[in-house]
Amino acid sequence: MLAADGIVVAYGGNIAIHQVSLKVGAAETVALIGANGAGKTTLLRAISGLNPLRSGSISLEGSDLAHLSSDKRVALGIAHAPEGRRIFPGLTVEENLVLGTTPWRRWGQSPADDLARVFDLFPRLKERRDQLGWSLSGGEQQMLAIGRAIMARPRLLLLDEPSLGLAPRLAEEVYERIRLIAAEGLTILVVEQNTVLALAVADRGYVLETGRVVLEGSAQELRQDPRVREAYLGR
Ligand code: ATP
Repeated sequence: MLAADGIVVAYGGNIAIHQVSLKVGAAETVALIGANGAGKTTLLRAISGLNPLRSGSISLEGSDLAHLSSDKRVALGIAHAPEGRRIFPGLTVEENLVLGTTPWRRWGQSPADDLARVFDLFPRLKERRDQLGWSLSGGEQQMLAIGRAIMARPRLLLLDEPSLGLAPRLAEEVYERIRLIAAEGLTILVVEQNTVLALAVADRGYVLETGRVVLEGSAQELRQDPRVREAYLGR
């Protein structure tokens, strides 16, 4: 479904992503793991069109994305739940969610079905639908960010560190929901420092170090790889 080939992304003269190639198949969940500063967020932002490519190509179901704005990529079905949640603190939960519907859907169509779907997945958001964004806990904000991305009815969901800043129990709860979304057949690319959680939901994964893919394989292969165990699983 998604194919990135030899992509290079730079900030001024500093190359953050060196010739990275990766693939995400339809209905697959793929994890992108790596330490702080490895380039995971940069790569995700390049896929959603927020960071320009220096070279290389990205395509979604064979259509070239490289020259499309991030808005056009959203319209093609790419939704991005960014790191740091970026919800609107002064809007209610429901208002935040409705903002996730794509512009063409807002025209004369009610978001009620999509809201109901998100509320089924995240009952806590339903209980808090009239509460303002700022008053949510970290885990609830993360759920809201994912829910807002789902409102766009994406074909490819990009998740940036869904466990960031969450207590272990909450991080597991968020990942339980990601597992449910994946089981519905949505294609997911998840960036994560918490390798245990990410490899528990993923089918496959890539390990990124200083902007390069150093390992790739099935989630099971990566969990058993001595380098992954030592560097990322603390064993
Ligand atoms: P983290 O988990 O800490 O977010 P990451 O793997 O997502 O790390 P990136 O945030 O993509 O890594 O950063 C990759 C490299 O690019 C780092 O060296 C970082 O300092 C650099 N970088 C990231 N954003 C910018 C920016 N806006 N301007 C300049 N350099 C940047």
